Amino acid sequence: MDCLFCKIVAGQIPASIVKSTNLITAFNDITPQAPTHILIIPNQHFANMAEVAQSNLELAGEIFKTAGEIASELGLDSYRTNVNTGAGAGQSVFHAHLHLLGGRSFAWPPG
Ligand code: 5GP
Ligand code: ZN
Repeated sequence: MDCLFCKIVAGQIPASIVKSTNLITAFNDITPQAPTHILIIPNQHFANMAEVAQSNLELAGEIFKTAGEIASELGLDSYRTNVNTGAGAGQSVFHAHLHLLGGRSFAWPPG
């Protein structure tokens, strides 16, 4: 399968890896939207996070747990986790990922 993030997991495309286990890989986003912008992905290919949760709830939990661990390791007491599902919501890479953003303030609701 021609999937960018599968290639990052396989080491075929370089990435700035933050954490890697037998289940997940976390790496810095190439176009950061905040001082900290890390993507946490399952090593196994799923099209989006909903498919991860449907197929393997524990793996979905592992991804959120990793976000909390990395935030704590980086000393972030406030951070945003974001999931885009579908092109209409801004998903551009169709391998499931969780965005972990921190280091600046985030206004909510947006706009
Ligand atoms: P999405 O828009 O699908 O929610 O998020 C995809 C993210 O992947 C974007 O924030 C984009 O900057 C990031 N991205 C796209 N290509 C690469 C790449 O080759 N390397 C890394 N590290 N991030 C990438
Ligand atoms: Zn993939």
